[in-house]
Amino acid sequence: MTKQLTCVQCPLGCALEVCLDETDAVVHVSGQSCRRGTEFARQEAVSPVRVLTLAVPVPGALEPLSVKTTAPIPRDLIPVAAEAIRRLSPQLPIAAGTVLAANICDSGVDVVATKELFR
Ligand code: SF4
Repeated sequence: MTKQLTCVQCPLGCALEVCLDETDAVVHVSGQSCRRGTEFARQEAVSPVRVLTLAVPVPGALEPLSVKTTAPIPRDLIPVAAEAIRRLSPQLPIAAGTVLAANICDSGVDVVATKELFR
């Protein structure tokens, strides 16, 4: 089986083709212009992951707080993780890097503030 993918590791967006065997193991990747594309294709074809970024409202703040996961999480977890993050109610003041949720959805990954917010 082959899968057609677009590499999202840089703005070039190389068109990738991934060949899988009958056990869904990756046997060949083509179309990449660099090693990052090979690694992306191997991960994406078998178990896609993404870093989740969101802006969440903070009670009493003038603007929303931008947050992100500290590492990519399985793409299937994104909707439920996003919902869990939206339910967070962080309290001011918040320093950049503050862990707002540890081990979000049992992914082993934390959610942190990406900027400071004092009011
Ligand atoms: S394969 Fe390399 S050059 Fe092509 S989009 Fe991916 S990271 Fe960019």
